[in-house]
Amino acid sequence: MGAGHAHIDVIRSMKEQPIDDVEVCLISPSEYFYYSGMFSGYTEGVYSLEEIRLDLKKLTQDAGIHFIRKRASRVYPNFKKLFCRGGAVYPFDMISFDIGSKHLPDHFGHTVARSIKPHEQFVEQVNELRKTSHPLIVGGGAGGCELALSLQAYKAREQIDGQVRLVSSSNILGSQPKRMSKKLKSIMQEKRVQLWERERVEEVYEDYIVTSANNKIRHTGVLWLGGPLADPLFETSGIKVDEKGFPLVKATLQFDNYEFMFGVGDCVSLKTNPYLDKSGVHAVKQAPILYENLRRFAAAEELITYQPRSLFFIYYQQGWRRLYYYMALWPFIVRAHGS
Ligand SMILES: Cc1cc2nc3c(=O)[nH]c(=O)nc-3n(C[C@H](O)[C@H](O)[C@H](O)COP(=O)(O)OP(=O)(O)OC[C@H]3O[C@@H](n4cnc5c(N)ncnc54)[C@H](O)[C@@H]3O)c2cc1C
Repeated sequence: MGAGHAHIDVIRSMKEQPIDDVEVCLISPSEYFYYSGMFSGYTEGVYSLEEIRLDLKKLTQDAGIHFIRKRASRVYPNFKKLFCRGGAVYPFDMISFDIGSKHLPDHFGHTVARSIKPHEQFVEQVNELRKTSHPLIVGGGAGGCELALSLQAYKAREQIDGQVRLVSSSNILGSQPKRMSKKLKSIMQEKRVQLWERERVEEVYEDYIVTSANNKIRHTGVLWLGGPLADPLFETSGIKVDEKGFPLVKATLQFDNYEFMFGVGDCVSLKTNPYLDKSGVHAVKQAPILYENLRRFAAAEELITYQPRSLFFIYYQQGWRRLYYYMALWPFIVRAHGS
């Protein structure tokens, strides 16, 4: 269920090594998987549409997997049935969820505020926004900041008047070291992105928003990137969720009370690390464990466990050379910047 980061890798593994005597089906509302790591490049105009998305029909066909274009609405584990929008019902023996998270809080759902989640909405939202004079981004995390800068770069490149605006309830990159936050702020100022920090968006109207500091900020479109929120599918299905609405999975990636149900990526939280960042990197790292456990579960073998590593460790593993050079150059960088 869901063509998220982890499932894409699992499907690739199934193509290389199909699981014996198992018929697999992917259900996804879109025919494409969109890669968020390239969203800012697309926004700026560096990548084309075809470069940032993957054709799911082709991927599943090559792997001998059925593809059904539907959005799941509920799951009834006791009956082993999945309900989709439009009324279709699919029985299953085992199921895995990789449906991501959402961004827009329900109480802003009826306003002009838009979300790029699910990711298939991204292209349409950004295409509209980047042509307007004062697009407003809500959210000062990495995603919000990089999209604000790339929207601004697009406007500069296409000579579209106006400035991108960003409102953040904390300092931008508030969860990162202060130095990073300060540095990014100075880059935003240099690029002429207008910032409102430590102000929460309280109300959204057709052409302006109101913040907790009672500022009225005019906009020509609002894109909400206020951090990952839980998909309501699990709670409305009566599945036990944590205080933020995310169901908990064990280290084997199985749901707590249903061993035939697996969950990965942003849509679940790990029982062993409930506060782990929601990030595509973790979803990708879970993929080989998920593939192996789906195979083992079908064969009634003992399952293996997922041990998350910190993002620092993952980036370190992936880019140790870069890090090594960076550390070696650090004294010179400090001297060059004078602090
Ligand atoms: C601008 C931006 C840049 C980012 N850059 C990075 C980065 O560089 N590195 C990084 O690690 N993370 C990055 N992230 C975070 C990253 O996008 C998410 O953490 C990641 O997408 C989560 O992956 P996932 O597999 O859980 O789900 P997703 O990749 O979000 O996929 C979920 C899939 O499920 C489908 N789906 C949703 N609901 C249903 C349903 N009801 N039924 C069926 N299918 C459904 C969706 O259509 C989608 O295809 C970025 C986020 C943003 C917004």
